Amino acid sequence: MPSLSLPEGLHVERIELKGDLLIIAIVSVLPSSCCPRCSQASSQVHSWYQRRLRDVPCAGRRVVLHLSVRKFFCRNPDCAHKIFTENEPESPRDLSGG
Ligand SMILES: [Zn+2]
Repeated sequence: MPSLSLPEGLHVERIELKGDLLIIAIVSVLPSSCCPRCSQASSQVHSWYQRRLRDVPCAGRRVVLHLSVRKFFCRNPDCAHKIFTENEPESPRDLSGG
């Protein structure tokens, strides 16, 4: 496992080597996420999609980060956000480990 500086709650699911591409699949391991509008936590997943983060050259290879991002239902009836996307991390900039 390379030492990635991942935000808390993210986990490297798998690493694939395809030619000169190093694909790192990252998933969130937190059971719930907070609505950005009302701050109420929800663990009811609506859906998820895969987001491709920036390609980073690393030791002659191109590193591609695949981040699985989940959408949650907001359970707060007073909240305008019925569905929200869990907090997306900043794009990891220090992938090479420094
Ligand atoms: Zn909400």
